[in-house]
Amino acid sequence: MIPFNKPYFSGKESRYIEEAVRSGKISGDGMFTQRVHRFFEESLGFRKVLLTTSCTDALEMAALLLNVQPGDEIIMPSFTFVSTANAFVLRGATIVFADSTALNPNMSTADLEQLVTPRTRAIVPVHYAGIACDMDAIQQVATRHGLAVIEDAAHAIDSYHRGRPLGSLGSLATFSFHETKNIISGEGGMLVLNEGRYDARAEVIREKGTTRSAFHRGEVDKYGWVDVGSSFLPSDIIAAYLWAQLEQMDDIQRVRRAIWQRYYHALAPLVAHGIGLPVLPDYATNNGHLFYLMCRSLAERTALLSYLKARQVWAVFHYLPLHRSAYYAAKHDGRALPWAEHYGERLVRLPLFYELTEPDQQRVIEAVLEFYSSPASSD
Ligand SMILES: *Cc1c(COP(=O)(O)O)cnc(C)c1O
Repeated sequence: MIPFNKPYFSGKESRYIEEAVRSGKISGDGMFTQRVHRFFEESLGFRKVLLTTSCTDALEMAALLLNVQPGDEIIMPSFTFVSTANAFVLRGATIVFADSTALNPNMSTADLEQLVTPRTRAIVPVHYAGIACDMDAIQQVATRHGLAVIEDAAHAIDSYHRGRPLGSLGSLATFSFHETKNIISGEGGMLVLNEGRYDARAEVIREKGTTRSAFHRGEVDKYGWVDVGSSFLPSDIIAAYLWAQLEQMDDIQRVRRAIWQRYYHALAPLVAHGIGLPVLPDYATNNGHLFYLMCRSLAERTALLSYLKARQVWAVFHYLPLHRSAYYAAKHDGRALPWAEHYGERLVRLPLFYELTEPDQQRVIEAVLEFYSSPASSD
């Protein structure tokens, strides 16, 4: 079976983990965490970052930093992972779901302004598949109404919007290093602070609501409880694993982009039959995070997935739109979100991971092309 994903392993992860263990300090903010922070701030140019235990936790920190209160409204796409919404629901917020665009699963900006009310606090764009949202349009609405923009950049490492890295555009941004992402540490995440005004409080919230970070830098002579917070910082063992991956980032990204390009070119003929391929607006780049096809119906997708499985290829669908979820359907304001449902029913992700060999990828491509030339597909 060709798996859908296989976590990348450079080999140096074990060595760095051992180094972390031998250093005698394996709690948070150790040597490897500092290295990772410096890498993102100095090499990749993010203003300030904080490693977290997950992107979910980074989103929860963002909701705390914004002081989101019960009844506040947060605008985000319905076609996203549950954590994007859950972080704000935990603070009592109401989620106002935006539809996806016709072009790709990113949130539509056509009717974005109509979703804004006096209770709106923030817009949370999700750069699906690492392809940038229309950040100019989102920033315009946010500026006009005094809203915060928080980028859910979980898919979006090493991708750009008009030349600027995704994750550097909102007030805050969150990344994931879950094993399904490009750069991984098993579980793991990061909060990006693009405006100075959140720095001090972010450190406190991340350290259980205490001034422990300032204490360790010798800035205060004892540490105490000054705010709400939780334990959002990862062990240095996690950071050691992540550091080994970051050292290989250029190679990982080169290989993933090449796999993506091979899919794109080999499957391009399907477009003439009404099958959709990823669409990159001119302001966006591709980071090889995931490759998807758009089937012409739910029935066709179901048939394609089982056709591939029978040929030892593990392909998968993606999000169930959150406005239709068991938890939120009754809380949703009732607006139809046809494009979110379109992607929920028709999108298929193909295997894409560093170790996917060319012959194996060729098998995936041939199986997809065979499906579309066989009676199993309705075309
Ligand atoms: C993976 C993902 C998350 C959550 O990341 P974790 O690190 O697993 O918490 C959040 N949002 C999106 C869009 C994701 O794909």
